[in-house]
Amino acid sequence: MKAKFDLEADCQPQVYGLGIKELWDIPADKHVPGRVIHTQGWPLAESDTWGGGFLYHQANGQVALGFVTALDYKNPYVSPFQEFQRWKQHPAIREYLEGGTRVAYGARAINEGGWQSVPKLAFPGGALIGCAAGFVNVPRIKGSHTAMKSGMLAAESAAAAIAASHEKTELADYDANLRDSWIAKELKQVKNAQPLVAKFGGDVGTILAGVDMWMRQLKIGLPLSMKHHRDYEELQRADLHQPIAYPKPDGEISFDRLTSVAYSFTNHAEDQRNHLLVEDMELQKRSELGVYAGPSTRYCPAGVYEWVENEDTGEPKFVINSQNCVHCKTCDIKDPNQNIEWTTPEGGGGPNYPNM
Ligand code: SF4
Repeated sequence: MKAKFDLEADCQPQVYGLGIKELWDIPADKHVPGRVIHTQGWPLAESDTWGGGFLYHQANGQVALGFVTALDYKNPYVSPFQEFQRWKQHPAIREYLEGGTRVAYGARAINEGGWQSVPKLAFPGGALIGCAAGFVNVPRIKGSHTAMKSGMLAAESAAAAIAASHEKTELADYDANLRDSWIAKELKQVKNAQPLVAKFGGDVGTILAGVDMWMRQLKIGLPLSMKHHRDYEELQRADLHQPIAYPKPDGEISFDRLTSVAYSFTNHAEDQRNHLLVEDMELQKRSELGVYAGPSTRYCPAGVYEWVENEDTGEPKFVINSQNCVHCKTCDIKDPNQNIEWTTPEGGGGPNYPNM
């Protein structure tokens, strides 16, 4: 769609965070309905990136918890999955999980670019609504309300087009109405928060983001939209970084990736084609492995990618366990050469998230 309609022609590139989430049944005496915990930073400081976690006490004695790692990280040895496992070991999080049971696991790349990354929203025969367009209010960690409103505006435009007997049309008024709605007002107020934290780090960046949002609230903000860089462009060569020694899973609070994937209830028909396409396998070997030390083996939260030794030639071989893919799209976003393309699998296969 990007190549055909070029919807991003007049906006900043979209940027993302990889959110990894679990549901747990926890002991009744630890469950406090409605309690919300948000965290920022730890344990990411060591890996020179930023992000944060959440833990929500929801209905039925469950907590939903997760950790988002910004995908503009530079160190190819970062593993967002391992950062999440490490985060769960913090005493303030672990205390709720001890004695509980993990019941579900999932992952998804979250659009964090904000207002300056909202693309053209309508094209012949379709429109972008909700998270497909990127209406997340990053500082509020919230996007359901904007997603619903954008769906309502698109529906109103579609209904008006049908009533006027328009065919094969582009819902141009949807785009205009959205840019005139409270979604635009809300997202413009926070538009520099994400780039300030990305540029200046969790401590200084958060303070600057707070000042920027406060000034905008008072209508004295500078007419300035900070720019984004594509996440894959931020990745640096492996020889500029040290490998990160992540702790082994304890099997109680922290787990390995393959066990975790089983809790996403992912299923793809076994005889379908691989939906993860590598355009140039030589480039993958020479650069993704040779220069960047195989970051796909660490950023993928489902353990889909492996570099193994070819038994016949002794050469490195890129293995793609596509049946494990939980459709988070991180490979399409973070591959340093943009050499991996996520395509839609057949037959509605993929993760089957209960209550996620
Ligand atoms: S293969 Fe790509 S889309 Fe699938 S789970 Fe791994 S990173 Fe996500």
